[in-house]
Amino acid sequence: MAQPKHKASKQRKRQRLGQVKAEIAAIGVCPNCGAPVQSHRACGSCGTYHGRQVMTVAAEATEAAE
Ligand SMILES: [Zn+2]
Repeated sequence: MAQPKHKASKQRKRQRLGQVKAEIAAIGVCPNCGAPVQSHRACGSCGTYHGRQVMTVAAEATEAAE
């Protein structure tokens, strides 16, 4: 595998890593309940993903969290 010819200095490394930024998560709307849900994740309020139930959401737990 190709290797770097020279050590990257602290300045050069920090300049490069200074360009690395966090991306904002893609937010969609749950087709089942209409709540905002992160893409490619099961809905937190109704527990469905891609039209089927994938997890159970306890009503008491959601009320206690809010
Ligand atoms: Zn939902």
